[in-house]
Amino acid sequence: MSTTVAAYAAPSAKAPLERTTIERRAVGEHDVLIEIKFAGICHSDIHMATAGWGEAIFPMVPGHEIAGVVTEVGSGVTKFQVGDHAGVGCMVDSCRECDNCKAGLEQYCAQGNVQTYGAVGKDGEVTYGGYSTHIVVDENFALRIPDGLSLDVAAPLLCAGITTYSPLKHWNAGPGKKVAVLGMGGLGHMGVKIAHALGAEVTVLSQSLRKKDDGLKLGADHYYATSDPETFEKLRGSFDIILSTVSAPLDFGAYLALLKTDGALVNVGAPEEPISLNLFSVIGGRKTLAGSMIGGIAETQEMLDFCAEHGLGAEIELIAASEINEAYERVLKSDVRYRFVIDTATI
Ligand SMILES: [Zn+2]
Ligand SMILES: [Zn+2]
Repeated sequence: MSTTVAAYAAPSAKAPLERTTIERRAVGEHDVLIEIKFAGICHSDIHMATAGWGEAIFPMVPGHEIAGVVTEVGSGVTKFQVGDHAGVGCMVDSCRECDNCKAGLEQYCAQGNVQTYGAVGKDGEVTYGGYSTHIVVDENFALRIPDGLSLDVAAPLLCAGITTYSPLKHWNAGPGKKVAVLGMGGLGHMGVKIAHALGAEVTVLSQSLRKKDDGLKLGADHYYATSDPETFEKLRGSFDIILSTVSAPLDFGAYLALLKTDGALVNVGAPEEPISLNLFSVIGGRKTLAGSMIGGIAETQEMLDFCAEHGLGAEIELIAASEINEAYERVLKSDVRYRFVIDTATI
């Protein structure tokens, strides 16, 4: 039997979120019931709740940075026990049969993964996210949160952490590599921490020097303002990897010029409009302009274990559910250091 639980939902596109109730499915054979303790606010939540990325399903309960405690397990569950700390990220299912799923790249499932909220699951029901007190999820799409990580600072790792960890690993960030993180927000601050923990030399490229002290404290070795034209002169040909976390339109040519030969500019943020690029900016120096989207389930677990081992959590501002709408306004103004996290006990 399904259960009725409290949640915060956007009733329609652009409408303020408000308290409501939703149904969570009965705990199936392979499901776990997680009592959600904390849910991060990702910029994607705002894009989705305002239907900024096109058609969306309402009412919508956003939230794909979920951390909590397992309170019930199905009869066939083997990976979790009641009392375990568990998380849910951006997806709750995939086809599990395509080449990508078999390779642990469920995020690139050929049939499309089932997103944690605003999607339709295999059972035909709409998915609801983490701005809620409970969630039921297949154990194969739940993550173990190691004891060394507090649940509040762990929640944002489920999106911001894996979104930066996966490309940094794929493009071999590590000792001897120079990594630039473009943008010092929710994603960027995790990119700095993770790239530093991986052993890379880390440079932050941010619009201004406003957050310089924070950046250096979080593990950056250097910090430059992109509003200063001298930055682009000085850093020409410097980086093995540039991880762009910004979704505003960029002069891609100018950033590609900052790469070494064989360097890669990897986008995890995306401007809404198509870009225009002179291809000579990748031809000279055999450069790569690439993108990356979250990470697979196994890699997300690897990231959580890595973060626990290195003592890495997100920098957060804990808020009550009644402050979600105000928090959205502040995220849009980049006025958060560095992630809002909802205390779901206040829902
Ligand atoms: Zn996200
Ligand atoms: Zn698949």
